[in-house]
Amino acid sequence: MSNPKYATLAVHAGQQPDPLTGAVNVPVYLTSTFELTGIESSRGYDYSRAGNPTRTRVEEALAALEGGVCGHAFASGMAAIYALVATLRAGDHLICSANVYGGTARLFNLIIQHYGIEIEYVDTANVDAVNAAIKPNTKLIHIETPTNPLMVLTDIAAVCEIAHAKGVEVSVDNTFMSPALQSPIALGADIVMHSTTKFLNGHSDGLGGALIGTKPEHKDRFLLVQKAAGGIMSPFECFLVLRGIKTLVLRMRQHEENGRAVAEFLSTQGKVSRLNYPGLKSHPQHELAKKQQRGFGSMLSFDLGSREKVGKFLGALKLFLNAESLGGVESLASHSATTTHAALSAEDRAKVGITDGLVRLSVGIEDKEDLVADLEQALKAV
Ligand SMILES: *Cc1c(COP(=O)(O)O)cnc(C)c1O
Repeated sequence: MSNPKYATLAVHAGQQPDPLTGAVNVPVYLTSTFELTGIESSRGYDYSRAGNPTRTRVEEALAALEGGVCGHAFASGMAAIYALVATLRAGDHLICSANVYGGTARLFNLIIQHYGIEIEYVDTANVDAVNAAIKPNTKLIHIETPTNPLMVLTDIAAVCEIAHAKGVEVSVDNTFMSPALQSPIALGADIVMHSTTKFLNGHSDGLGGALIGTKPEHKDRFLLVQKAAGGIMSPFECFLVLRGIKTLVLRMRQHEENGRAVAEFLSTQGKVSRLNYPGLKSHPQHELAKKQQRGFGSMLSFDLGSREKVGKFLGALKLFLNAESLGGVESLASHSATTTHAALSAEDRAKVGITDGLVRLSVGIEDKEDLVADLEQALKAV
C-alpha cells in the first residue's frame, strides 16, 4: 500500500508477519546475544543492547506513526529524555518549556545541570520569549505541549520556525497527545519524544520511552546512546507497546469522547475552578489546539481550593483510581503537588501555577455516563 491512512498504519507499521514462521504477532526475542555467521559478519544482530529484532519492529512502528526516519526505544520516558540530552556538552545552552513534566525538571536540575549544561526554563507558549532566549550556544529547545498538568500549549510550528532560523533543533514531548492526535514532525519538529508508558502502551502494564528522529545524524546519535549507555526497552516491553499501538486509534477516539464529556460536566460545577482542558472554548488556546492537534485528548486538571478538599474528593471516588500516571484504559485522578510534581519546591510549583488544590484526571475508556456519575458523587463529598 502506497499511502495507508492512520488507523491502517497503526495496525500494520512494523507489524508484518514473522518471516520465519508467518506468526501474525511480532515474536518476543528473549535473547541477549546472537550467533555470528563469521568474523565481523552477522544476520544483522550481535548483542541485544545494540539491537534486538522485537525492538527493531517497535522502533519502525514508532518512526512510521510520527513520520520520522528513525525510532529508538528506551527503558522509560525518562531514559529517552536522558538520551536526548546525553550528547550535549559543557557550555551548551538548553531551553525547556516552563511547567514541564516534573521528572524532566528533576533530571535537568539535579543531574544534567551539573554537567555544565546551562538550562533555561521559558514560557514556550510565548513565542517572542523563546526567540529572546535563544543564544549563540543554544543547542536544543525542548517543548512539552500540552503541558502536564496545566494543559498549556506551545505553537510547535512557530517555535520551529524561529529555532531553525537560528540553527537550533526542537524536540517535542508528545506523550499527552500520542501520535494519533498530534504530529510534531509535520509541524517542523526535529525530534519527537514519548513516554510509551502512557497512551502508546495504553494499558498501564509497562514502562518505556522513545525518540523519533528526522535526520540520519539522529539515528547515529541515539543508537550510540543506546549502545553506550544501555537504557534500552526490553523485548517484552517492546511487545507490549507493539500490541498497544494496534488499538491506539480506537482507544484515542474513546479517550477523546470521554475527556470532552467529563470536561463539559466539570465546567458546570460550582466547586470546580480553573478547569484546564483545551477542548473547551474557554481555554485560552482553544484555537491553537484546533489548529495543531487532531483532537483534545483526555487529560485535564482543575482546582478544588485546598489539599484537604482534594483529599476528600480522591477518597470518595469509586471508579477513578487515585494514582499517578496516565493514558491507560482506566480512569485515574491524582494530586499533582504531592505526586508528579513533588520533585519541585513549593516555590517552583507556585511559580508555574501548580496549586495545592489542583487535581489531574486521566480519563479512561469506560462508559462516560459512569465516569460523570462518579465525579458527581465525589464532588458532593467535598
Ligand atoms: C510520564 C511522562 C514522562 C516520563 O516517562 P516515564 O515513562 O514515566 O519515565 C515524560 N513526559 C511526560 C509528559 C510524561 O507524562
